[in-house]
Amino acid sequence: MTTIMVLGAGYAGLRVVKKLAHAKTDAHIVLVNQNEYHYESTQLHQVAAGTKEPADVVFDLRKSLPDSVELIIDKVVGIDQDNRKVSLEHHDPLSYDYLVNALGFESETFGIKGAEEYGWPLVDVDTALAARKKLEQTLARYQTSHDPLDLSIVVCGAGFTSIEYLGELVYRLPQLSKRLGFPMDQVKVDCIEASPKILPMFSKDLVDWAVDYLRKRGVNFHTSTPITEVRQDAVVSNDQEFKAHTIIWTTGVRGSHVIADSGYNQKRNRVVVRDDLSVEQHPEEFLVGDVSAVPDPQSGRLYPTTAQISMAQADTAAANVLARMRGQEPQRFTFRSLGTVCSLGPHDGVAEIDRMGTLKLKGKVVSVLKWIVNERSVLELADVRTMLESN
Ligand code: NAD
Repeated sequence: MTTIMVLGAGYAGLRVVKKLAHAKTDAHIVLVNQNEYHYESTQLHQVAAGTKEPADVVFDLRKSLPDSVELIIDKVVGIDQDNRKVSLEHHDPLSYDYLVNALGFESETFGIKGAEEYGWPLVDVDTALAARKKLEQTLARYQTSHDPLDLSIVVCGAGFTSIEYLGELVYRLPQLSKRLGFPMDQVKVDCIEASPKILPMFSKDLVDWAVDYLRKRGVNFHTSTPITEVRQDAVVSNDQEFKAHTIIWTTGVRGSHVIADSGYNQKRNRVVVRDDLSVEQHPEEFLVGDVSAVPDPQSGRLYPTTAQISMAQADTAAANVLARMRGQEPQRFTFRSLGTVCSLGPHDGVAEIDRMGTLKLKGKVVSVLKWIVNERSVLELADVRTMLESN
């Protein structure tokens, strides 16, 4: 029997599996994932700030997968492309006829000294929860230490994750101040960004609105300030030092280390795929999500790595596995953005919707939009019951 193996149960992998199962193929579909649950990576910043609990952003894979899919809980350690085998930490190697690799992302430190040791990344449920504990414990310690650095927070980078985290943080801090007894007026929040721009994918008026929103709530932005070193109690940019006891590391992501470990031709653990999302020399193997780098035929640049693109890639990869099995021509990946939403805490945000021109939105209406985007994703990846349970 033909075996289709899907690695990773993030947005892309889970959607591939659902599409394949729905197609009612005779093939044996195997999903390998290191956790028994799927987590909504676009909501990790909320777990890290404490505005959502881990249970709000995860769902059980076994409950949501069709019976026809075999689920193996284990860590992938390597892929042998030539022999079509996947090595796992605890199971014997598995053979496949078709592979869809959706192993996802890891924190990118760019080799900056101290970033791994002292920066707190937000890349999965465990790291988001660890960052939350670190924040709350450090703020709570102020009552006995009276050390101003216990009330100082540095957020590294001003991309999507940083800005969405800052939005939740400024919403949560007054609540924490009441609960933990620290003076709100002595809290210091710095955001350090290498580039001169914040959220470069949004138009200037929306960026200005977002920055103003966060500034009014106490965030100090430092643009054109590349981080060169991270220490236990400071973020360093050349000769400038930003002292803090909580350092959140959100300067971008790279693909899974399994890519480099398996000897792929890669950059930051992302492999440039062909226009049908398959790997050069391996028409039976597809890469989707953060482990793939897909050139946009219009701009010539690589598409950014977003959940929206991952889901679109999943549809193409699933269709192309089925096409290959049936001896048909695979289709090219095409992508048309629906728009971009950036939340600023639970009740506000900015958004650009790309339909019939660009619709720009800011404020409370965006939180409704974000809710719809999140719920739609749970509904598509799990089911109605899971969506209702998560509310
Ligand atoms: P990102 O690449 O979007 O942002 C990282 C930021 O860190 C950049 O602005 C970069 O200039 C800055 N940076 C990098 N190195 C630095 C240094 N040494 N010093 C100072 N600043 C530095 O990464 P992200 O925010 O982690 O997001 C990862 C991916 O996920 C992106 O593709 C993003 O678009 C996507 N995402 C999307 C959403 C959404 O659509 N709402 C939310 C979160 C993440």
